[in-house]
Amino acid sequence: MFRILRYLILIFIISTGYYLFISEYLNITEKNIYKEEIVRKEIVEDKKKIIQEKKEETSPNIKKSIDKVQFVEKKIEILQGDTFVSILENLNFKQKKIYEVISKIEDSFDLKKIKTGEIISVFENNYGEIKKIEFFKNTETIISVNLDKEINLNIIKLTKASFIESKEYTITESLFSDGIKNGVSSDILVKIISLFSFDLDFQRDIRVNTVVSISYEFDEIVETGRLEYNDIKYASIIIDGKQLEYFKFITDDGYVDYFNRDGKNVKKSILKTPLDGARISSNFGMRKHPISGFNKMHKGVDFAAPTGTPIYAGGNGIVEYVGRNGGYGKYIRIRHNNGYKTAYAHLSNYNKGISKGVRVNQGEVIGYVGSTGNSTGPHLHYEIIYQNKHINPLKLKLPSGKILEGKELEKFKEEYKIIYADHLSMLYE
Ligand SMILES: [Zn+2]
Repeated sequence: MFRILRYLILIFIISTGYYLFISEYLNITEKNIYKEEIVRKEIVEDKKKIIQEKKEETSPNIKKSIDKVQFVEKKIEILQGDTFVSILENLNFKQKKIYEVISKIEDSFDLKKIKTGEIISVFENNYGEIKKIEFFKNTETIISVNLDKEINLNIIKLTKASFIESKEYTITESLFSDGIKNGVSSDILVKIISLFSFDLDFQRDIRVNTVVSISYEFDEIVETGRLEYNDIKYASIIIDGKQLEYFKFITDDGYVDYFNRDGKNVKKSILKTPLDGARISSNFGMRKHPISGFNKMHKGVDFAAPTGTPIYAGGNGIVEYVGRNGGYGKYIRIRHNNGYKTAYAHLSNYNKGISKGVRVNQGEVIGYVGSTGNSTGPHLHYEIIYQNKHINPLKLKLPSGKILEGKELEKFKEEYKIIYADHLSMLYE
C-alpha cells in the first residue's frame, strides 16, 4: 500500500517537473530574443516614458546583439553576507572553477566593490549549464564572464545618450506628488526642493495653483533603458504671481551653481545690513538703555540713517507682522525659512503693499527709517531671530550668496538666455 502511494507521489513530482520544464522551454523559445533585454530592464526599472519613442531607433542593434544569446538568464541579488565565492558555491561551482573565475575577474575588477542589492546575472543553456556570468561594473559597463572551455572576460561598454527635457505643471496637491503625476522623476523633484529651500518653506508656502516649470539633463543607457538624472538647468516657481527662477551656471572657479537673472546666487544669506549708507550706532548686547537708563539686553543692532532711508527685506520670506508694536514703534517682522525671522523697528512708514501675509524678496523695499516708539533719533533697529532666540546680526553665519559681476556676469547672461530659449522651445514645440 505504502509503496503504491510512494510511486504515485513520485509520478506526480516527475510529471509536474516535466510540465514546468516544458512550459519554461516553450516560454524561452517564444521570447528568447527579448528575454535578456527585458530582464535587464527589470533590474533598473522605472521612469522611462520619453525613452520609449527613442527605443524604436535603437532597437535593431540591440536585437542583433541579443540574437546570438540563446541562454536563459537568472538574476541573483546579492544579499547581506553574500560574497562572490558563496554565490558561486550556491550555484554548485567546483572550488577549482570558483578560483579560476574569480582570479580572471580580479584581473580587471575588484570584487569587493560589489555591493549588497546589486544583481549578478547567470546565463544557463538548455541543459542547465551555466555558460556566462554578468554583472554591472558601473551603470555604463558590464563585466561578462564566458565560461566555455576557457574562461574569458569581456568588458562591455554600454551606449550613453544625453538628453534635456522640460516639464511644466500646476500644483494641486504638493510639488512632489503633482511632479510624479506629471512624469517628473523623484530624483529631479528632490533637487528642485533643495534648490528652492532658501526661498520657500515647502510646508507652508506652496499653494494650490503654484506653477512649476523646469528643464533638466539626463542620460539614458541605451541597452538597459536605465535613466540617470543629472543637473537641473532651469527651474521656476510662480506663487501668487511672484516668480522665483534659477539657471544653472558653472562659475569661473568651476562650481555648478544657480543664479537668478540678475546673477544672484540661490544661497542667499539674510542681509546683515538691510539698508544703504548706514552707520552702526548701537551694537548687539548688554547696554545702558538711552531712555530708561537701566542696563538691558539690546537684542538687535541700531543703524543710524536719515528719516526716509529705504529699508530692505533681509531675505525672502513672508511678512508676519506690520503695525505699531509698543516701544518698537512702527514695526515689521518677516518670517524666512529654516527658522529665521527678521524684525525692523522705529520706521517712519511702511512701503506700499506691505501687509501681513505678503511675500517679499530679499532686497525689496519694505519701509523707511524713522524714529517712532522709544527712540532718541532716526535709526533702524534690526533684529534677527533664530528659533525664537535673538542673535547678533553682525555675527550671522549663513552661506554667502555669490553675486556674479563683470565678465562672469556677461557670460552667465549669454548662457541663461540660451537655457531659457531651449526651455520654452521644448515646452511648446
Ligand atoms: Zn535698537
